[in-house]
Amino acid sequence: MTETPDAWPAIQRDTKSAPFFDAAARDELVIKRCTGCGQALPPEALVCTTCAGTALDWIPAEGSGTLLTWTTVHRAPNRAYTDLVPYTVGIVELSEGPWLYARVDTARPSPDLPLRAEFVHPGDGESYPVFTAAE
Ligand SMILES: [Zn+2]
Repeated sequence: MTETPDAWPAIQRDTKSAPFFDAAARDELVIKRCTGCGQALPPEALVCTTCAGTALDWIPAEGSGTLLTWTTVHRAPNRAYTDLVPYTVGIVELSEGPWLYARVDTARPSPDLPLRAEFVHPGDGESYPVFTAAE
């Protein structure tokens, strides 16, 4: 489990994201898969990008991937982040293929850096994955 200050703004679920956050509370990463063609899709997908199907299942993901791109935020976007900067967010290409936008906790982000999901369980709001450099 990643240690993180409870100062991060709380994440609130909705009905569409509930299975994702239920899994994160169990330290599991889930993504979607098209039941029509089997395409793996990111958790927020509502439509298959391959066949336009809308019948999508939740499936477990390994929780590993590589860093595609990132940015380190030095100027807080609002007061809630004042004590949190600098922090890095990036796009992670999961080993199943989909891309996931997430916080990346590593001192040295680099292209294709192997990453692993760890889960944050804040006192307020939903649990969520943060990616760290894989061992
Ligand atoms: Zn499909």
